[in-house]
Amino acid sequence: MKKIVIVGNGISGVTAARHIRKLSDFHITIISGESDYFFSRTALMYVYMGHMKFDDTQPYEPSFWSKNKINLKKAWVKKIISEEKQLLLENDETLAYDVLILATGSKPNKFGWPGENLEGVQGLYSKQDLELLEKLAPNNVICNHAVVVGGGLIGVELAEMLHSRQIPVTFLVRESNFWNGVLPDHDSSILNQHIKAQGIDLRLGVNLKEIRSDHLGRVKSIEIAETGEIIPCNFVGLTAGVSPEIGLAQNSGIETRRGILVNQFFETNITDIYAIGDCAEQTDPLPNGRRSIEAVWYSGRMMGETIAQTITGNKMPYKPGHWFNSAKFFDIEYQTYGWVSNSHSKPKDEMQLHWHSLDNTKGVTLSFDKNEGTFLGINTFGIRMRHMVFDQWLNEKKSIEQVIMQLDQAQFDPEFYKSYVSEIQSTLLTTLSNSVL
Ligand SMILES: Cc1cc2nc3c(=O)[nH]c(=O)nc-3n(C[C@H](O)[C@H](O)[C@H](O)COP(=O)(O)OP(=O)(O)OC[C@H]3O[C@@H](n4cnc5c(N)ncnc54)[C@H](O)[C@@H]3O)c2cc1C
Repeated sequence: MKKIVIVGNGISGVTAARHIRKLSDFHITIISGESDYFFSRTALMYVYMGHMKFDDTQPYEPSFWSKNKINLKKAWVKKIISEEKQLLLENDETLAYDVLILATGSKPNKFGWPGENLEGVQGLYSKQDLELLEKLAPNNVICNHAVVVGGGLIGVELAEMLHSRQIPVTFLVRESNFWNGVLPDHDSSILNQHIKAQGIDLRLGVNLKEIRSDHLGRVKSIEIAETGEIIPCNFVGLTAGVSPEIGLAQNSGIETRRGILVNQFFETNITDIYAIGDCAEQTDPLPNGRRSIEAVWYSGRMMGETIAQTITGNKMPYKPGHWFNSAKFFDIEYQTYGWVSNSHSKPKDEMQLHWHSLDNTKGVTLSFDKNEGTFLGINTFGIRMRHMVFDQWLNEKKSIEQVIMQLDQAQFDPEFYKSYVSEIQSTLLTTLSNSVL
């Protein structure tokens, strides 16, 4: 019977295993050094914040794995011996495979900052990071000031986590506006204001120069490059993005660039070795402007589902639909469907229409092609919209006017929640008619 080995027990590896099991009786082993069982990485923050226990982040009961004949092995793989179709584990044990799927995820970026390896400095990615955080920053007595470096989604989560334990946080963001490598400036400014309103000391347009230590090698302070300001602290969270975890592949003669290079069937340059999830980099252009590396949960899941088809004999290319994502910035929910460019890289044919509430806690930005008049994408803050509706409108290449006029069909707010739709429609239609004059 064919032996499938999957390195990585995250969403992509586990989804692949589940779907291969649905479609075949192959022998399946998932191997991972991080944890015994698959858990939701996106829920790590809620464990620290006391909303759930770590065990509750595991989507499946321990018995699920034996019931479905999926073997789990907790170990680090140090090398792939592809000529012999074997894995070499850290304890020098070997494991044979017929088909190998690499689903090794990402790792937090480090940029060689002086002091980045001191005690009290860490990233936020793994279960071990969560345990370390619990040790270094259990409360505001042991940790009386924290600095978070890097203004992406994980940075704002870490700031919220520390804040939930009343630990004062200084948040250093290199960009002039929060997350404006992704968002247009008017959307970023909603978040700037909201993060500051929570009591976070948000510093925009600044870089970390160095992290300084006390005489015991622990974090004592950081210095800001632009101003020379020294901020005393006893915890530094490094959250300046993630990169594909490609160490194992590089070690084993598999072609890599930023990620492990794969074609649309997730095949690497070595026969019977595939890569999916955060660690994979597509070499073939993807439909709908999708990026060659996507370090997000939903993409990992879709890749896992697709590769299961190929492995079980129904060779299937990866064809993700329109881009979508969601996140939460403290209590502001964010959703995005299609493409809304940031202010720096906005193509000249893309126009944007923006509305925000008077208190700046809710906002909507729509983008459209100014030549064709077609809808390209939407960002929402503090307002929920329906994924399926936007997916359909993007497929239909609906006109921007129609999208605005029919926005009530997409809204998805709980009962009694004040509907802003008519206010949004009137603002957007006025801006649209002014902008095309
Ligand atoms: C704090 C945080 C919050 C996030 N929030 C969101 C969110 O709200 N929405 C969203 O879409 N995405 C979010 N993400 C991103 C999302 O979690 C990832 O895209 C997703 O988990 C990646 O899944 P994966 O299966 O590719 O890899 P991973 O989940 O990283 O799993 C890979 C596994 O492989 C193991 N491994 C690696 N190398 C080896 C080796 N050599 N030997 C053995 N094991 C190995 C790793 O230890 C790891 O356990 C968040 C990420 C983090 C860190």
